[in-house]
Amino acid sequence: MNLFTQPHRRYNPLTNEWILVSPHRTDRPWQGQVEKLPPETRPSYDPTCYLCPGNERAGGNRNPEYDSTFVFQNDFSALLPDTPSEKLDQRGLLRAASERGLCRVICFSPRHDWTLPDMPLADIRRVVNVWAEQTIELGAMSFVNYVQVFENKGAMMGASNPHPHCQVWASERVPTEPAKEFRSLLGYRDEHGTCLVCDYLALELKAGERLVVQNEHFVALVPFWAVWPFETMVLARRHLGDLPGLDEAERDALADIVKRLTTRYDNLFGVSFPYSMGWHQAPADGEIHAEAHLHAHYYPPLLRSATVRKFMVGYEMLGNPQRDVTAETAAERLREMSDVLYR
Ligand SMILES: [Zn+2]
Ligand SMILES: [Zn+2]
Ligand SMILES: [Zn+2]
Repeated sequence: MNLFTQPHRRYNPLTNEWILVSPHRTDRPWQGQVEKLPPETRPSYDPTCYLCPGNERAGGNRNPEYDSTFVFQNDFSALLPDTPSEKLDQRGLLRAASERGLCRVICFSPRHDWTLPDMPLADIRRVVNVWAEQTIELGAMSFVNYVQVFENKGAMMGASNPHPHCQVWASERVPTEPAKEFRSLLGYRDEHGTCLVCDYLALELKAGERLVVQNEHFVALVPFWAVWPFETMVLARRHLGDLPGLDEAERDALADIVKRLTTRYDNLFGVSFPYSMGWHQAPADGEIHAEAHLHAHYYPPLLRSATVRKFMVGYEMLGNPQRDVTAETAAERLREMSDVLYR
């Protein structure tokens, strides 16, 4: 089967969904929307930024004069810890259930003008630690059963503030996307007695054509079933379930992979590369989840330049996701990029 010339479908075994790949269409002219670029330079401190050290936030709280990472409760949390437990069910058709949780913000650095690729490795390493600490702290709360760490980077992905930060939402129930994956991981384990992600990673390491960067403990690759043009996954080589399970050497290695991957993203179109990324890890429900395999997904919207993005519309909303550039071509382009940041 020729994956590089003819239209075909690819299967995502994690979500049990299909995508359409149309490699013959990559030279299609573009007369659509062109994005505005954000200003090239930002000050290292912005007196109007609600995430900079010492500044007042919208809720009236003031940030401390922090000098590394800083975690605080989101002033406009989507989930609240004291929501009363209630249910609605009308003939199984009108269903609702209360949901308790907590939302926090993690500032990566006091530097307003930095993003992850600008940060020294030791500072990114501290961010990795905070991801793990927050997973433990929030996961230990009696009503929390899942901890979702995610980052929206760039105005194109809806980041409301350019100051480098991510979010942690802890919820009572496992959210839809990881829940889909756990069904697949459990099903695969039942059928094969092994881990879907471990087996998939072994295939990718053998094939090589979708790999982007790797080190002793982590691999970044464009998944075979990628939907977004330069979508990647970061996979732990070891079969472990969550961020707190990472040992010291693995945390060092993760900081290295995050820096190298985000640097390559920025170098690709010579712009601070927007994306949404997040970790998928074992539920924090006190049970053993041997099926979970720690990994991150990066979903960047840019398609062919700093200003031309992919839209998920039409067929994608009503049929299924579709892409033109193959995962292999995208991986090759990211692989060719330098680990040294060009600004
Ligand atoms: Zn700031
Ligand atoms: Zn595994
Ligand atoms: Zn996942």
